[in-house]
Amino acid sequence: MAMYIASDECISCGDCEPVCPTGSIFEGKLAFRIDRKSCAECLDDHHAPKCVDVCPIEGCILHLAA
Ligand code: SF4
Ligand code: SF4
Repeated sequence: MAMYIASDECISCGDCEPVCPTGSIFEGKLAFRIDRKSCAECLDDHHAPKCVDVCPIEGCILHLAA
């Protein structure tokens, strides 16, 4: 399970990167990105994805379809 960032929505504010407990968020060429291999949707430590909590753009960070 993982989250992903919709590149056409992301404004590259960088707010999500420091809150990720697994260091899965990094800056890509067009937008910030999430490493799907290490993102665990924050299910171990938190009630919900921390990146979604801080992202100012509604619908920018979404659940990756299985
Ligand atoms: S859901 Fe959690 S682990 Fe996954 S990218 Fe967002 S903050 Fe990091
Ligand atoms: S918080 Fe949202 S808009 Fe800002 S860099 Fe992360 S995904 Fe992009």
